[in-house]
Order: sequence, then structure tokens, then C-alpha cells
Amino acid sequence: MIRQAKGKTPRRPPPKKPSNNQKDPVGVYCRARPLGEEDEECCIEVISNTTIQLHAPDGLKANRNGEFKETQYSFKKVFGIKTTQMELFEDVAKPLVEDLIHCKNGLLFTYGVTGSGKTYTMTGSPGQGGLLPRSLDMIFNSISPYQAKRYVFKPDDKNGMEVQNQVDALLDRQKRESQTSVPKTPTTRRFDPEFADMISPEEACKASGVDEDSSYSVFVSYIEIYNNYIYDLLEETPFDPIKPKPPQSKILREDQNHNMYVAGCTEVEVKSTEEAFEVFWRGQKKRRIANTQLNRESSRSHSVFIIKLAQAPLDADGDNVLQDKSQVNVSQLCLVDLAGSERTSRTRAEGSRLREAGNINQSLMTLRTCIEVLRENQMCGTNKMVPYRDSKVTHLFKNYFDGEGKVRMVVCVNPKADDYEETLLVMRFAEMTQEVEVARPVDRPICGFAAGRRQRNQAFKEELTRRLEDRGGPVDGDSPTVLNQLLQSFPPLPPCEISGPNDNVTLPRLIEALEKRHKVRQMMVEEYNKTANMLKSVLQEQDSNLLSKENFIQEQRGRLGEKDKMIQNQKNEIDRLEKKSKMLEYKIDILQKTTNIYEEDKRSLQQELESREQRLQREMSEKRRMESRMQGIVTDAKLKWEKECERRVNAKQLEMQNKLWVKDEKLKQLKAIVTEGKTENQQPKRPSREKDKVPAKRSASPSPVPSPYNGSQSSLSSLEPIYYFSQTIRPDPHFPRPGSVSVASCISEWEQGVPYSRRQGSQSPPDSRKRAQGLPDSLRRRRGRCWAREVPVQPAEVDLEETGHWTGPPVRPLHRRSHSAGGERWVDHKPTTNVDLDTVLQPNIPNAIKVNAPNEKALSKCDKYVLTHQEVASDGEIQTKLIKGEVFKTRGGGQAVQFTDIETLKQENPLAASRKRRSSETGPDGEPMEGNWTDVETRCSVALEMRAGSNLGPGYQHHGYPKRRKP
Ligand code: ADP
Ligand code: MG
Repeated sequence: MIRQAKGKTPRRPPPKKPSNNQKDPVGVYCRARPLGEEDEECCIEVISNTTIQLHAPDGLKANRNGEFKETQYSFKKVFGIKTTQMELFEDVAKPLVEDLIHCKNGLLFTYGVTGSGKTYTMTGSPGQGGLLPRSLDMIFNSISPYQAKRYVFKPDDKNGMEVQNQVDALLDRQKRESQTSVPKTPTTRRFDPEFADMISPEEACKASGVDEDSSYSVFVSYIEIYNNYIYDLLEETPFDPIKPKPPQSKILREDQNHNMYVAGCTEVEVKSTEEAFEVFWRGQKKRRIANTQLNRESSRSHSVFIIKLAQAPLDADGDNVLQDKSQVNVSQLCLVDLAGSERTSRTRAEGSRLREAGNINQSLMTLRTCIEVLRENQMCGTNKMVPYRDSKVTHLFKNYFDGEGKVRMVVCVNPKADDYEETLLVMRFAEMTQEVEVARPVDRPICGFAAGRRQRNQAFKEELTRRLEDRGGPVDGDSPTVLNQLLQSFPPLPPCEISGPNDNVTLPRLIEALEKRHKVRQMMVEEYNKTANMLKSVLQEQDSNLLSKENFIQEQRGRLGEKDKMIQNQKNEIDRLEKKSKMLEYKIDILQKTTNIYEEDKRSLQQELESREQRLQREMSEKRRMESRMQGIVTDAKLKWEKECERRVNAKQLEMQNKLWVKDEKLKQLKAIVTEGKTENQQPKRPSREKDKVPAKRSASPSPVPSPYNGSQSSLSSLEPIYYFSQTIRPDPHFPRPGSVSVASCISEWEQGVPYSRRQGSQSPPDSRKRAQGLPDSLRRRRGRCWAREVPVQPAEVDLEETGHWTGPPVRPLHRRSHSAGGERWVDHKPTTNVDLDTVLQPNIPNAIKVNAPNEKALSKCDKYVLTHQEVASDGEIQTKLIKGEVFKTRGGGQAVQFTDIETLKQENPLAASRKRRSSETGPDGEPMEGNWTDVETRCSVALEMRAGSNLGPGYQHHGYPKRRKP
């Protein structure tokens, strides 16, 4: 099967492919020759009859770092140096010859380095005949009694064989005898003096089981493949001594059975070993002559000696060869002496010689490659193309590897050290070759005639000659023969004595008697012939009957065998299928189980899915219900809160309005107080609560218009707060001494409802703080902070609620002093009680009139007024306020100051600040806060720790680094 696909020309299907699939590996044998000289270095050792070991020679070992290399190779059989040619033949070639006789092809080649004994093994020497003469000898020993007459078999020049009839064969024989002076087939071994001692008679061997009912003929051809050209060594060319013609190369062709053959190659029919060897010798001589003439080396060519054995069954009589071409069987044995396996370097070839060497190596390389590819195809099941066509040798042997036959190789080894490396290569190739398998040849079908025809025919012939001899033998009474008896049964002859010249009776009577006898004899012969013929026909009939019966039996046997084979095959197939089905059943079982498990899984998962879906549905509906409920609650709450907010806003608005109104009133009163300072001898009176309620009659300020400004913080920042501080300043002993009382303190005191007298002596911070504690919450807060808009405003400290109170009355158009006269002039009012703080935050007003107490003179000269007022803030620090105002001329001719701005300069004690800061480190519950996470570093770490989506507060998230915590 595999063979069919391999590298075959796909033109047509092979007509006769062996139906068997039995294969045999290529038989590889190894033969070691003895060393040329005893003292030479030997690098091989035969370990067993199947193993040979190679040792690297000393020189090489040194080259390989002293590494001692030993390699072993195993072959079918290894022959040591003492092996005789006969022993080798018995093992290697004899089976091939047996096969040849039994219509099977064989190929035997010797492979090795030049001088390793290839030619010795194949050809041998006188007294030491090689495989070739021994094979020839065995063939003739086996078939010589059954050889066909010359020219009965005739090659058809297409690698086939024809059977000629006796007449044509006879004519051809006569022609041959007349043409050549070749003596008749010798019967003695005196043909070739060289051959005489090749094989000793006692070594002669014979094949067994030769079909006696066949006729045989041996044909030999001898070719040489040199430089990839094929030369016919047996071709008869007229020799021209003047101008010798160079030999013509031959081509390879494929016959109808896809077998390769050398087209037009001479095939010589040989009738004996001697004759065959003589032909071989002739070829050898021609080869030698050609080599000398063309200056070639024989070791570089491959020589192929082909022995063809034609055999055909005898006819039914066992007398002649059956005149049927289809019944002719041709088998061949190729004996190949390959060229030496040399590397190009070793051949020391130059020029064309180098090319030759290359070609030799090329063809051996191709052989190697083919074997390798074959092996790979067979071992790996690949279908690579085997490059048979790359060289003539491989192309010629293609059928052996591709088709069927027995292939054997003898690897010759020369143990000498020089050859070591090449021998290694040879061994490797040879070992590998063993792995290639070749189809075993099948037995040829036997012809339809009964066996033993030749013997019967022989016996018949013998009997006939004996009888004929008997009939013509002496007739004496002692041994009455059939003839004598026959004679005796005739009537006796009358007396034949003649009485006288006139005796006319005796002679006629004798004539008559003799005529009678003759007639009887004639009749008897006729009778005899008739009977004999009848008998013969009966016998023939019986014979043919028997034959047909035998045929039938044979046929039936064949059929039986086929059927048996079929049954066996089917049984095997059934076994295989049963095994397979069992396996499949087992697999199905497993799969069923797995399916069940999966099914269950699926079911449970589905159930779970369903329940989850249900739950989800429930939850969804619950959620929807919840949502709608929440929606209701939310709208309710929203409405409620909206209402609440509205209510609260309204309340707050009312409250604010009230507050504003109160404040306005207070301011009015304050204004009145300030204005009252002008009136003669009137002590400044503490405004009473009652007074508060009464709108100040003296006030010229308009009544508060709260609504548009209430709560509107944006308008607050845009509006400059204006305070009326209308005052006619004049020297007055009742006026509180400047320095002992400030305007601001006066205002605040008044606000708090504290008597002025008490206030005078209690200006110490603790006091004021104590007082502040007793105040209503809103006021206390105001005291602790800047009363007015502060310059360094901390966003956190802006009290919008309070600044809201700054919404003063709309600006009244006042008569303003011209500023063009020479810039602003300031009245710098610094009460003497002020403490020199010595800080950089000192108001430095150039071009100012500095006063301790305000006086009209100073005011009249200036248009700006500033009062530096100091007070102790809630935190105990001194706070300087710059109360600024603009000076106006009043209608009455006095001066009025309208306060426009209060600037607070606050001095902070760094210690107090740090203390303060520390106080902030305590948590709302008074406990010190955990760690120090308020510092920047910690905050950063906290910030990093916070993750998106995390709903945990910093307190949870703060992992802090313990080492950073303050102890
Ligand atoms: P190759 O053909 O391989 O080049 P040869 O067959 O010509 O080598 O052998 C070279 C020489 O070695 C020949 O003289 C041959 O007689 C001798 N020789 C080879 N093999 C043996 C052997 N097994 N026994 C004795 N002599 C041998
Ligand atoms: Mg040789």
C-alpha cells in the first residue's frame, strides 16, 4: 500500500503489484578483510557474529584530545577475517539463488572503501571464488537437467522473454554455429584456465525444490556505470585497432511492469557455469581495456552483473516448452560491485578526475539519500519522493526498493587505520540501510498442468525405445518375444523346394502364402495402431480429466486459502471492531455520566436562577413600593419644610427688622450723645433703656430704612458705612478728659448700659472680659470680635449677621471740603492713655496735626480725622483701632466728623497664639485629639488614604503612622 504511493510515476497503475504486505529488512552483512601487513594498526574488532567495533586509530585519538572513541555497529551477521568465500556464500548469496530459481528477484551489492575487499567478495580469485561464480555454479547445478535448448527462450529487447517454437530455435542454433567458431557447450571445466580452480567440485551446491516440469534458460548481462554513464561490457563491437571507438553509453528504460532495464543491453544465453564465467571474464577484460585506454580507475565505477533466469512450464506431454509467453517467468539476480566509498579529498583527484570522483560520490550519495528517504517514509509514514532518478545506480535498482525482492548488502571493511574515518561513514550508512524494508516476493502461481510431466515423458520415451529395440532384436526360440509369437500364429509356409525347372506349383504357392502373410501382418499392424491410438486417446482423456480435476482441486485449494485468509482478516477486523466498540461503549458510558452530572448541574443552576429571579422580582417590586412611599414621604416632608422655612424666614426677617430698628435707634441715640457733647454744661448722660426706645429728637439722621438692605449682603459690601459724629469741639472742663475715655469705649459702654464712671476705672482686660460675659450672647460675640469691618479679614471671622448691621442710612449729601488745595490733611487724635506698642503696625500719617483731644481749631484745618483707640480684645491682646472719619463744616459754623472707616490693628502674642492653637487641638468633647493628624503631613496621608466612594470619615480612615504620633 505504502509502496504504491512512493515516488511512482502516476502515469498508469502498476499492473502487478504484490498483494502481500510482508516485508523484510535489507539484509546487511559485514565482512572484515585481513590486514595487508601484519604489523599494521588495526582499528576494528569483531565482537560477536553480529557486532563489530571500531576503534579510533592512535593518530586520530591524539587529534581528538585523547578521547578514546569506540563505536559499535550491529549487522545481520558479521564475518571475521577468517571467513571463507564458501561460508559467506552460504549465508549471503545462496538464499538469493534459491529465490532466483523460484522466480524471485534479488539484489546483492558490496559496499565499502576501495581496497576493503568488495571485488574479492564479489568475484574472488582463483581458488577463492567469490559470490558471483558460486551463484552461477549453483544455478547451473540446480537447473542444468531442465535447461531448455538454446534459443527456445529469446529476449524481446523490452526486458521480456519470448518462447520460440522448435523450428525457429533450431534455425537460430544452426545460424549461431555457422557464424561463430564457438565450440559446442563444453561439458568439462577446461573453459577458462582462470576459472578452473575458482570452485572446487566438493563445494558445489544445489538449490532444492526446482520445478522439474519447467524449462530453464540463463541469460547474463554485464554493465558498468562510470561517471553516471552506463556501458555495456558484453557488447560485440568490431575492433578497430587504428581508431578505437569509444564505448557508447546506454540508457535506462521502464518496461510494462515498471521494471527498469538497460535498453539495448546485450543478454547472453549461457548454458553452463563455465560459459557464464567466460562471458563475465570477457566483460572484465573489456572493462580493463577501456579503463586503460581512457585512463580510468576501476574502483570508481560500479559494475553490475545481471543473471536472468527464464523459466516456462513444459507442455502437457512434458516434451516441449509451452508455447505461451504469458507462462514465461523471468527472475533476475543483480550482483553489484559498487565503486569505492571515498571522499573526494582522499582520491587526490584533479580536474576531470575530480569531477569523476564527485560523480562517484554523487551516485553513492544518492544511494544514501534514497535509503534515508525510504527509511523515513517507512518509519514515519511520510510520503517523500525518493530521488532514485538522481543517479543511474539507484534508478536501476528502484524496483527492488519500490517493488519486491530481496536486497542484501555486504559491507566490506579494511581494518587499517588509514581507512578509519571512511569506514565510520560506511558503517553508519550500512547500519541505517538495515532499517529499510523491502516487500517480500510472492510465490508465482503454478501453471495448470499436472506435475511430473517431464518424468512421465521421460519414462514413456525410455519404454518406447526399449520396446523398439526389443522388436528389432534377434528372434530366437529361447526368448520368444511378442514378434515371434506373432509370427508363429501365422499359417506355416508351404514347402519351398523346387522339384525341377518345370515346377510351376511351388513358387506360386509360396508367393501366395507370403502374400497372405503380408496381408495378415498389414492387418495386424493396422489393428495394433488402431488399438494403440485408441489407448492413447483414452489415456490422454484420462490424463486431461485428471489434470482438470487436479486443476479444480488446486483452484479450490487456492480459493479455500483465500477464503481462509479472508476469514482470518475478518476475524481480525471483528476483533478490532469489538475492541473498538468496547472502547466506544466505555467512552459513551463515561460521557453519559458526565452528561448526567452536567444535566443535574444545569437543573440546579436553573432552579437557583429562577429563585433568584423571583427574589429579584420581589425585591424590585418592594423597591418600587418603597420608592413610591418614600416619594410621598419626601414630598410631604418637603412641603412641610418649605412651609417651615418660609415661616422661619418670615420670623427671622421680622426679628432682623426689629434688631435693625433697635440698632438704628441706638445709633441715633449715640449720635444724639455725641451731638449733645456740644451743649453747654451738660454732663454726658448715660442713655437709659427707656431712652433707647424713644427716637432721638435731636438726631438729624433719618430713620432707618431697613427692608431694602436687610439680609442683602452684597449691597453691604458695596456700601460705605457712614456714621454721623457731628460734634462741635470746644475746650470744656466737663468734657471727659481726653485720654481717659475714647469714643469707641464710650459707644461700647453705652451699648452695654454700663455707667461711665465705673467704666473709667475698670479698663483692665479681665474686667472687660468679665463684663462681656454678662452680656447678651449677640453682643458678647460682637465684643470678642472686631466691632467694625476689619482690614485683615479672615474669611472665617466674617460675621455676616453682624455686618448686616452696617447697613446705614443712605448717604446724605454733605458739604465736603475741597481736596484740591494741597492733598488731605489729617487730625491725628491719639489719646494720651494709649500705650506705645512699639510695633511696625504704627499708623504713620504725614502732614497730620497730632492732638491728644479733638479741638475745633485742628478740625477746621483738616478734612480727615483719625482716632487711634486701644482696647483689650477678648483674648487679652491689645487691639488698636483706627477710627477714621471725614470732617465737615456744619451749617452752624462748627465741625462735624463723619466716621467712615474703622481699621483694626491687632497685635498677637506669638505665645498666646501657640497656646490658642494648642487649645484647638482638643476635640469637641475636650479630649485631646488622637494623634496629630491636623498637621500638613498627616493630612496628606489622610488624603491619600481616602478612597473614592469611601463612606468612611477621616476618623475611620486615618491609619496614621504610629511612629509619628506624639507620645
Ligand atoms: P575493493 O574491490 O574493495 O577495492 P579488492 O577486492 O580489490 O578491494 O581487495 C583488495 C585486495 O585485498 C585484493 O588483493 C584482495 O585479494 C585482498 N582481499 C580483500 N579481501 C580479502 C579477504 N577477505 N581475504 C584475503 N584477501 C582479501
Ligand atoms: Mg574493486
